Amino acid sequence: MCEDKQDALQTGALSVIESTYQSLRAALPETITIRLNSNRRTLVSLRPQKNGGMRLSVHKEMLSYVEVLPDLVRYVSKRGRGRYPVLNTVMQRVFDEHCLPARVQQQDPVWAERLNDLPLLSHCTDSLEQLYQAIHSGYFSHLSRPELIIKRRPPQRRRRSIQYGSYHAATAKVGPQVRITPLITQNWIPVCFLEHVLHHELCHHAQRSQPMQRERMHSARFKKWEQEYNMFVEAVAWERVNRERLLSS
Ligand SMILES: [Zn+2]
Repeated sequence: MCEDKQDALQTGALSVIESTYQSLRAALPETITIRLNSNRRTLVSLRPQKNGGMRLSVHKEMLSYVEVLPDLVRYVSKRGRGRYPVLNTVMQRVFDEHCLPARVQQQDPVWAERLNDLPLLSHCTDSLEQLYQAIHSGYFSHLSRPELIIKRRPPQRRRRSIQYGSYHAATAKVGPQVRITPLITQNWIPVCFLEHVLHHELCHHAQRSQPMQRERMHSARFKKWEQEYNMFVEAVAWERVNRERLLSS
């Protein structure tokens, strides 16, 4: 059926995944290629291909939720614009069940306590710039340090997603930049979550500094670097538990 059949077999949900896959295939035009992924971050994406078609990449576990089909088909036909409530719910569920490190998935009470005890920005005497410099010198001292930009606060409204940060490679006029949303600099945010975002964006800078042909954004080497941040697991787990609060902050 697809490249990841072997993987899907191991999940034990093959028949549902397979039949949803077949229905999806039948519902989409021929020009759309479908790839089943096992990503931990980008569960659904739609990208143009060299041959002029598009490639829909979708986490294989999402296909064990048949109800996701109409939203997925709409997502493709509208090129990702619009609202996809079922798709979002399924994505969240798959993320929680399959994309978090095992320790966090188990909802270990010790873990829950640890997440509540993470040092917060309200208690941090370092400035954002100092925290940023420390992450840079701790993990990326071999690279130049992009300028850190705190973006403007987005309007207060019901959000469906937040872009925590972004990396902008140097242009002819401006050097490289790491931009973050002020939402992750609020007092109640743990230091490690802010640091994780800064570290993540600096991994993009590292990627850009040592380019590899046709490398994907969150490639295997990117993920390896990303997990080198010493509070990576805590930061990701904290985000999962606090995403709703962040969205409405
Ligand atoms: Zn990224």
